[in-house]
Amino acid sequence: MKTDLLSDRHIGIEEKDMEKMLSTIGVKSLNELINQTIPSNIRLKKPLNLPAPMTERAFAEHVNALGAKNKLFTSYIGMGWYDTITPAVIQRNVLENPVWYTSYTPYQSEVSQGRLEALMNFQTVVTDLTAMPLANCSLLDEATAAAEAAFMMFGLRTRDQQKSGANILFVDEKIFPQTLAVINTRALHQGIMVQTGNYKEVEFTPDMFGCIVQYPNADGNVEDYRGFTEKAHAAGCKVAVAADILSLALLVPPGEWGADIVFGSTQRLGIPMYYGGPSAAYFATRDEYKRSMPGRIIGWSKDKYGKLCYRMALQTREQHIKREKATSNICTSQALLATMSGFYAVYHGAEGLKNIANRIHLTATYVNKVLKKLGYKQHNTQFFDTLRFSLFDQISASQIRTIAESKKVNFRYFENGDVGISIDETTDIRDINVLVSIFSIAAEKELPEISSIPETGSLKEIFKRKSSFLTHPVFNQYHTETEMMRYIKRLDRKDISLAHSMISLGSCTMKLNAASELFPLSNQSFAGLHPFAPEDQVEGFAWLIYNLGEYLKTITGFAGVSFQPNSGAAGEYTGLRVIRTYLEVKGKGHRNKILIPASAHGTNPASAVQAGFTPVICDCDEFGNVDMEDLRAKAEANRDELAALMITYPSTHGIFETEIKEICDIIHSCGGQVYMDGANMNAQVGFTNPGTIGADVCHLNLHKTFAIPHGGGGPGAGPICVAKHLVPFLPEHPFKGGTKNTVSSAPYGSAGILPITYGYIRMMGAEGLTKATAVAILNANYMAARLKDTYGIVYSGANGFVGHEMILECRDIFQQTGISENDIAKRLMDFGYHAPTLSFPVHGTLMVEPTESESLAELDNFIDVMHTIYQEIQEVKEGTAYKDDNVLVNSPHPEYEVVGDNWQHAYSREKAAYPIPSVRDNKFWLNVARIDNTLGDRKLLTTRYDSFE
Ligand SMILES: *Cc1c(COP(=O)(O)O)cnc(C)c1O
Repeated sequence: MKTDLLSDRHIGIEEKDMEKMLSTIGVKSLNELINQTIPSNIRLKKPLNLPAPMTERAFAEHVNALGAKNKLFTSYIGMGWYDTITPAVIQRNVLENPVWYTSYTPYQSEVSQGRLEALMNFQTVVTDLTAMPLANCSLLDEATAAAEAAFMMFGLRTRDQQKSGANILFVDEKIFPQTLAVINTRALHQGIMVQTGNYKEVEFTPDMFGCIVQYPNADGNVEDYRGFTEKAHAAGCKVAVAADILSLALLVPPGEWGADIVFGSTQRLGIPMYYGGPSAAYFATRDEYKRSMPGRIIGWSKDKYGKLCYRMALQTREQHIKREKATSNICTSQALLATMSGFYAVYHGAEGLKNIANRIHLTATYVNKVLKKLGYKQHNTQFFDTLRFSLFDQISASQIRTIAESKKVNFRYFENGDVGISIDETTDIRDINVLVSIFSIAAEKELPEISSIPETGSLKEIFKRKSSFLTHPVFNQYHTETEMMRYIKRLDRKDISLAHSMISLGSCTMKLNAASELFPLSNQSFAGLHPFAPEDQVEGFAWLIYNLGEYLKTITGFAGVSFQPNSGAAGEYTGLRVIRTYLEVKGKGHRNKILIPASAHGTNPASAVQAGFTPVICDCDEFGNVDMEDLRAKAEANRDELAALMITYPSTHGIFETEIKEICDIIHSCGGQVYMDGANMNAQVGFTNPGTIGADVCHLNLHKTFAIPHGGGGPGAGPICVAKHLVPFLPEHPFKGGTKNTVSSAPYGSAGILPITYGYIRMMGAEGLTKATAVAILNANYMAARLKDTYGIVYSGANGFVGHEMILECRDIFQQTGISENDIAKRLMDFGYHAPTLSFPVHGTLMVEPTESESLAELDNFIDVMHTIYQEIQEVKEGTAYKDDNVLVNSPHPEYEVVGDNWQHAYSREKAAYPIPSVRDNKFWLNVARIDNTLGDRKLLTTRYDSFE
């Protein structure tokens, strides 16, 4: 009998399945399995102290009541966040559609063609609006994109500049304060000196290598940077521009006046403000800098029969491959939000975007005129949407504020008493009349209400955009809801997501993202909040975030938490910065070595370098564990310089190393801190935690263990938890009164998705969370037990069990038959499965993580499929199938090939497409054959306009 608790629905295994699974594994009880798996010296003594679980219904009421404590005011604050209208067709069919929100990063391009197209649409929007040739498919937020731009320009210095040590980055003072704060944080340990000032007065010197300016600037003024850019280039400096993407529908884009990099937020393209995030940052640059570009790039390629298709290009730039040589540590970015913004542009087209931008501009022009008439002084000579007013002597900002708040309106209040107003897409006639009335009441002058806004804007000719954009048919075809709905559906049919089958990606924890956890994302009383809204308007959200922080502290055994980092890799960086600051305060700032096991995720060494440390790689032994002798030797050898160890637990090999406490002790005795990569928390929650183990700081991938969906490659949330001695060094935020260690645009990073994790914890409760961990370990061990005699399991723990994931051996198969792990991955697609993790952390293997959410039936089906594939491999081995014409090397088999008239393979169509009966019930029809990985890199084509011809 099911109770009405979420844990009964979240956990896929029923009591009646348990016995069979345990006996397959060879243990008597789940307890015994856990005792045999998790070392006793790190086990928690007591259950987690968390509130009793709520039913899904009770949670819905609770979260609505919290929402009701927020006050939804009309926001004219601006500063990087603007109210928007998410087209309902996009909200319902993308944001609220599990095909889009549960899919994985499109590494397996044959089952990701839908989201790859959507992301290329996004790239095309960015290149068109900025007039730059090359864009990536999102970064985390505007401020981190600025930091990436700074680091990229630093890396692109000429040989002479490098030789002479050119290290000054000029940042115009009229940049958003949060952007400047993040640039400062990231520049500090890269050897970059940030110099701020007025761009009109800067004197270029040989030690300057780059500049960052904002367009329109932080006050809202549209500056003419043409002369400045020419001077910068003449002096050998690159110019990066933070640009408001929507303004570029009206303004001459930076690509037309010489910018080298253009970046910013695409929140204005249909994404709610979400109290700060998530939304997608964009990043565009010149073609010649493509290899230095941070983030992922979608490119064209062809499948093996020559059909055009999409894939992720230039993956060898990424930190997975380049590790400590990577130019960025970014992994999870903002795919779902980029997808939505891309669709927003598809839905509106160029005319639609121009209309929206123009209406905003005309509104601002009108407000400017009227307020000036009332006697207020406006500072911006040229503006798009944002005005900055000085008040007269008798009127104070607090007076305006009192009137405004009585009418549920927020403005930006400058320190000097000026008032800022940013108009947005939602501002209508009613809003305008209210807005104007606030100022007329303060000025004690009557003004007639208006019923329409005037038709003429105030932009000078030299600022007006003349070039066209979004001319590709995709931006001109889907402007009705029916067409749009079908376009979205057409794309989502090309993608495998959790809505289709288990996605057993090791390390990525593709578990259930329960619908009841996701409801708050569509609730305006959370989604509609501006991150800089006054505290008394966000009581409900603040309460939720505070309490979530308390729960995460309980779960990790730590004393402090920061929600700023918006991905796991950003969490790594932040944790290392916190360690750095702590060491500096202790007078040990010279310690700059970070020990990292060879098996670590690529983001670990990349983050260490970004934080200004030098990685020292230590070995793993034949059992997959940290080689204790090597660790000891390297810790000792670097004793005076050791800053920290970065370690994943259970290890990326899926093993609970029994020596983990000793490992922490060795590092501490050498004066280092222990950073725990929390990507594998799904194997710890309720049984052990980083605090108990002896670590000092960890990040949590809320998009892995804590039920936030992957969104096809983001959003994510990577909060860090720290021990008591590190609490004083957690990130501050300019809006919350400090600028130390600021790592993202918004004070709580991707706040908008925190209610998902909050809901997960509140509905599961301590018992449910702990059981989820146990069942994750049960499922992995059940699969390991059933696959060990065919593929073989590469590593197991001290007592022969795996943790929550396992590595399947495929290297022997390759040696004996020439069938690679990649062939197995592609063949799985014919059965309707997404491949497990490929060649990480061990080359030539597959890493499987079933998670607790899968049912026994699904596990068994996946195992059947793996066994069938194993049989197919045996046929090649035994010579009953050809080495060069078999179901594996030819996989996946697309629909057009299977139904085509010229089937030429030595095996049947049925064997190709319907290899076992269960496939017939749930066939995933591919629309491309295996994709050529090198073609798309040799010739990089990244927008919808491109073609190979
Ligand atoms: C996923 C993962 C990361 C990176 O996290 P992102 O959120 O993608 O930045 C780091 N380490 C490990 C072990 C991971 O699995």
